[in-house]
Amino acid sequence: MNKETQKMFTDFIHSIDEELIVSFNESEGYCFDTLENRVNLALSQTDDCGFIRHLKETHKCLFAERINLILWSILHEIGHYETENEVEEYDEDYEMRIWLMLTDETYRHNTAIQDRYFNLPAEYAATEWAIEWIEDNYDKAVNFSNILNLL
Ligand SMILES: [Zn+2]
Repeated sequence: MNKETQKMFTDFIHSIDEELIVSFNESEGYCFDTLENRVNLALSQTDDCGFIRHLKETHKCLFAERINLILWSILHEIGHYETENEVEEYDEDYEMRIWLMLTDETYRHNTAIQDRYFNLPAEYAATEWAIEWIEDNYDKAVNFSNILNLL
């Protein structure tokens, strides 16, 4: 990803929340670092691990496929930051174990594993935040999504 594209993503994220630190690191993948308030992006993501399916089936989201997967990923990670204080404490080891299964080729396409991960309290809250943000900013979301479709 060139510097211009990185700046475009950083500006977009800061237009939502200026407090966030944005980093670009392929090996970390899409993630949110709670200690640093940092959203990491990796643009080579191709596998959604059933996220779009989950949006439609569990969240009954009607515009799941109309929004670019990269934008979903970014908004979901911002959602972790925005909902951090709403989510009650839960077993992070459990989350990590399911996450490791999802990153394993053997289980990646197992819909039960996918849903178990996406339904974890922090994941569910982050996804709901992303959906609500799109609902409140639909034109901005579609415009940015269309730009991402060209990348
Ligand atoms: Zn997440």
